[in-house]
Amino acid sequence: MSKTISIAIDGPAGAGKSTIARRIAGELGFYYVDTGAIYRTVAYFMDLLGVSPKDTDGVERYIDELTVGIEYDEDGLQHMIMNGMDVTGDIRTQDISQKASLISAQPVVREVLLDMQREVARQHNVVMDGRDIATVVLPEAQVKIFLTASAEVRAKRRTDELIAKGQKADFNKILQEIQQRDYQDTHRPIAPLKMARDSVKVDTSEMTIDQVVQTIRNIVTEKTGR
Ligand code: C5P
Repeated sequence: MSKTISIAIDGPAGAGKSTIARRIAGELGFYYVDTGAIYRTVAYFMDLLGVSPKDTDGVERYIDELTVGIEYDEDGLQHMIMNGMDVTGDIRTQDISQKASLISAQPVVREVLLDMQREVARQHNVVMDGRDIATVVLPEAQVKIFLTASAEVRAKRRTDELIAKGQKADFNKILQEIQQRDYQDTHRPIAPLKMARDSVKVDTSEMTIDQVVQTIRNIVTEKTGR
């Protein structure tokens, strides 16, 4: 099999990774792999069993009971399959965001998911987004991007997104949750969120989505000729 191309996009919650990564993947005809959704699926599974994300023994005991599948629909949208059940819509709550952040610090979870993520990238050209893609999962990725924005901008985007969906949103609460997740994700001992030495940092605070996509497309072309 010829070598596949991997584009790694890391960054904190709400930096726009999934929107950008999906667009780039669509333009290139690559698979888009949202790794946060995989951690969310684990968090959701443990939550259903009543296992706390901080309970190392409980998580270790039940992780083997979980089979995580990734499927794509005709629009290229990633679906998360938990033991045969599509949980794509169930994993997008604030509660699961926090629990995913906590459970992702459990060594056994990171270990199990590492192989799974690498396998997808071995088989397909991917745009993979997460927290540790360039540093741990795919250190050989041809393109490495660190996408970031100030916490205030990220909280404002999230607030606007919820309001647009007709849901209630409290900016200060969202900002606090984002800061808490940033802290947890950057301070865990294993695979913390940090920029790889050879990643290109793109601060999206003052950029439109189109500008970010164009910037990254230019980097991809420069590094891969695509
Ligand atoms: O990206 P998303 O917000 O869906 O990720 C949920 C949580 O999963 C993050 O807060 C982070 O703790 C964890 N995660 C991770 N490593 C990744 C992707 C996500 O630890 N590669």
